Amino acid sequence: FDQHDGDIWMDGTFVPWRESKVHVLTHGLHYASAVFEGERAYGGEIFKCEAHTDRLFASADTLGMVIPFSKDAINAAKRETLVRMGLTDAYLRPIAWRGSEMMGVSAQMNTIHVAIAAWAWPSYFDPAQREKGIRLTIGDWRRPDPATAPCHAKAAGLYMICTMSKHAAEAKGYADALMLDYRGHVAESTGANVFFVKDGALHTPTPDCFLSGITRGTVIDLAKARGVEVIERTIMPDELASFEQCFLTGTAAEVTPVGEIGPYSFTVGALTKQLMADYTAAVQPAGAGLREVA
Ligand code: PMP
Repeated sequence: FDQHDGDIWMDGTFVPWRESKVHVLTHGLHYASAVFEGERAYGGEIFKCEAHTDRLFASADTLGMVIPFSKDAINAAKRETLVRMGLTDAYLRPIAWRGSEMMGVSAQMNTIHVAIAAWAWPSYFDPAQREKGIRLTIGDWRRPDPATAPCHAKAAGLYMICTMSKHAAEAKGYADALMLDYRGHVAESTGANVFFVKDGALHTPTPDCFLSGITRGTVIDLAKARGVEVIERTIMPDELASFEQCFLTGTAAEVTPVGEIGPYSFTVGALTKQLMADYTAAVQPAGAGLREVA
């Protein structure tokens, strides 16, 4: 992925994509002192741009990192990156990490760096699989206790478990893993939140030890706007058999139907399809629909 045309915004200037390098003794690489975001632009506008920047700063703060740019500067840099790459529909990846001045667990003096890359990423899951509902397996690794890891930060270190879980799922032929939390409750997938449908209501795990995604919030609002009841609660794995539909939500995944979790199967039903359509409409830049009519 390092051989790409275009530029990456790094610490305030644009660097050719192939030359945007860090030193091998970077603290972020050795000790996972890095926080990042995943965002999408639609029709030239970054969806929930400010909310993503707020989360980046909150994640950095949790790790004790002070980002040396204002939120406004980061928002402007994200937009400039999109324009510089000539993209209107794209995925954006801002990342902040501790640099290479000191090597060791302590890195109080290390410079905090920030980079922003943007690229075209139309579908997170295979479009054909997505149509039928993707296949998940229950992963072996669990989301950690909030007393063990900063589970609400979008911190690089937390993705070690996600990559191990996703690789194990892919090795068994599944698209992704459904992860349980440290108590054995249903939590999320390796890069998205999970929802279930039962008797016309949405059920989703209480986000007390994992990322409560921005897409999750949007989908809850969209469902409520349609009068659908949304129930946040503890969901146990043995309840999976009782749900009719299931889908994932995330910036990259958007609203992705799930057809199967291990032995349990789900239909890509009317509510899932409705929320997929509502989400597609919601992410369009304000006034896009009006422009098309005019
Ligand atoms: N959980 C995890 C582990 C994720 O990586 C993501 C993607 N950022 C999400 C949930 C969904 O978050 P969002 O909707 O803000 O993209």
